[in-house]
Amino acid sequence: MIRIHSFTFSPFQENTYVLYDDSREAVIIDPGCYTRAEQDELTRFVEQNGLKPVKLLNTHAHIDHVLGNAFVKRKYGIELYLHEKDVPILKAAKVMAPNYGFAQYEEADVDHFLEEGKSVEFGHTVLEVRFVPGHAPGHVAFVNHEARFVIGGDVLFRGSIGRTDFPFSDFDTLAHSIRTQFYTLPDDYTVYPGHMDPTTIGREKLSNPFVKA
Ligand SMILES: [Zn+2]
Repeated sequence: MIRIHSFTFSPFQENTYVLYDDSREAVIIDPGCYTRAEQDELTRFVEQNGLKPVKLLNTHAHIDHVLGNAFVKRKYGIELYLHEKDVPILKAAKVMAPNYGFAQYEEADVDHFLEEGKSVEFGHTVLEVRFVPGHAPGHVAFVNHEARFVIGGDVLFRGSIGRTDFPFSDFDTLAHSIRTQFYTLPDDYTVYPGHMDPTTIGREKLSNPFVKA
């Protein structure tokens, strides 16, 4: 059975996820840990649960989602997966990091490009990769059909949606991604977002004020 553990890191209150199953293999998604205390919180959880991280995944490369990439790669000797269209965003994050107070931010190299329709596997678990641009040009979401959830990044929030006032963001593109890639999932699927609390597809289809079903 797959399990999901979330951490909330940095002043951005970014949600970092560790997914793992009975095999004890794990993937780390969007590590936003920056301080030593945050890094320790993540590694303590991995150790206490006897987990073996095997892949590092990014939904997109905004600074708050990639702060811990280099640390995680080095600590566990694992490779980074990102959609090719978000490489410019990753490069921009490095330039902007000091302005946001992250002078020690270290950029990690991308090892593999995530592709729409392909899957990412670890242990006994399969994650479907969905391409959901709009908030970021190479944004992806990870869908698990067995446990019926989406690791959604900054696409669809509880009662909100990802910001589109960034460079390379576009509202119409985001709305299209939500309607075609999220709202087409069954209502009971849980969405684990990059910020704030989880929601469900059904709840947002019914009441999201920004993108109607
Ligand atoms: Zn973002």
